[in-house]
Amino acid sequence: MRDSKTPSGAVPISALRGPVISDALVRTFRGHGLDVRFVYTIDDYDPMDSQSMRLQEGMAEHMGKPFFAIPSPDPSVASDFAEYHATRFISLFARLGIVPEFHRMRDLYRSGALDHQIDLVLRNAETIRAIHKRIAHVEHAPGWLPISVICENCGRIGTTLATDYDGSTVAYACMPAYVEWAQGCGHHGRMSPFKGNSKLLWNEQWCAQWDHFGVTYEEGGKDLLTAGGSRDRSNAIYREVFGKEPPLGLAHEFFLFGGRKMASSKNVGAKAYELVNIYPPEITRFLMLRTHPKRHIEFDPAGMTLPRLVDEYDRSADAYLGDASTDLARTWRLAQVSPDPAPPPPYRARFGTVANWLQIPSITPEKEAEREKAAPLDDAELRDLHVRIELAKEWLERWAPEDAKFAVTPSLPPAAAALTPAQRRFLANVGAEIGRTADPEVMQERLYEIAKECGLVRAEGGVSRDAFAAIYIALFGKPNGPRAAWLILALDPDLVRSRFADASRDSVKV
Ligand SMILES: [Zn+2]
Repeated sequence: MRDSKTPSGAVPISALRGPVISDALVRTFRGHGLDVRFVYTIDDYDPMDSQSMRLQEGMAEHMGKPFFAIPSPDPSVASDFAEYHATRFISLFARLGIVPEFHRMRDLYRSGALDHQIDLVLRNAETIRAIHKRIAHVEHAPGWLPISVICENCGRIGTTLATDYDGSTVAYACMPAYVEWAQGCGHHGRMSPFKGNSKLLWNEQWCAQWDHFGVTYEEGGKDLLTAGGSRDRSNAIYREVFGKEPPLGLAHEFFLFGGRKMASSKNVGAKAYELVNIYPPEITRFLMLRTHPKRHIEFDPAGMTLPRLVDEYDRSADAYLGDASTDLARTWRLAQVSPDPAPPPPYRARFGTVANWLQIPSITPEKEAEREKAAPLDDAELRDLHVRIELAKEWLERWAPEDAKFAVTPSLPPAAAALTPAQRRFLANVGAEIGRTADPEVMQERLYEIAKECGLVRAEGGVSRDAFAAIYIALFGKPNGPRAAWLILALDPDLVRSRFADASRDSVKV
């Protein structure tokens, strides 16, 4: 099993679908008793070709150089640009429970580990040229060789054209206009392509890795797997030049961050690469695994997305506690950071409820959770609660829709002026009830009785929504909020009494 990554920048959440699926496959294969190696190459011999980097200060001169030869953004973290980003994504992967064998291309090339494959490719350059033409309709000039050498004069790798392999050296020219994104220095000469002096081009490097590591399975994004695309080219080269069958593998569909219609929207609240640090790792894994790999994901983190995602995650945890062999239960298991996880805590505070608790100043979520569970929380339950508290804080700040947010206003809100006489009577009577019980179930029952006494009933029977709306309007200035009895018992009793007394007066001063 193999995958690879270019160490060129921060990892957006959309780039994690492949690694999470690959890791889930490795775990599943191992679970069936297969001895699987999971190899991940860090492509630090690739040239810097990013347009966005070119515009950054001090980067223009490095365009076309291999990533390992570009200075580190922070030398205290890593010695060069490639290692700086590699360090970050290796630790991100570890946090997500993805721990493949990492191999840096600089080590593979410099040690000569791929010299045999380089020689094979160079001797078969004409066959490879014909394959590129046949499968991708890309026509390279006669004499073209599928490698890039590192220019001895300027150190660039993306600007050189190599020709004329004689079995130990190639001729090369570092050309000023070979690519649009970098300028070569004009130097030319002959050199050995071995021991790190050159890298194979993308398709040929892919084949060399399959051959070197003996890859038999490779998962990949659909973008590489279209007809005539990169994978088709590599497959043909592997068959015709290396004489081997390419790896089998699943192809996953796209993960679109923000969705198509959100692509132009500026305010998503967090960038795709920030999200991987905001979401707990098991939620990120669950997000990647809950949708079948053959279906694309349009992910928009705004609004109610996160509460729904965590609710679904909780359903998968409950499924696991029931029958662990169902698909939903297996998804929960594969979403965990550990391949051999402890079962989920049976009590988990619902995400939306935690978000409500956080918005009521006098509430301590730990106490509230204990009351909801009707027993003290154990360590696992407390840890789970604290993860949810941190996540709910982010959600409230970045993505929660207005009607999910509330805060007790400092004084009677203007909206209270529109309360009806029945609603005012209701609030006066509820105010008188405060302090008589601390049990939310009993209080909820009393709220229903008082509402009926005040005539706040629906024609078809039951209590009118106007009753509870009166409570929310008096406290928040808007007609909805969390469960009323739990809310008013959680607040300071004096505040509730005086607020409901103010709201119940016939002429409201605002
Ligand atoms: Zn040069």
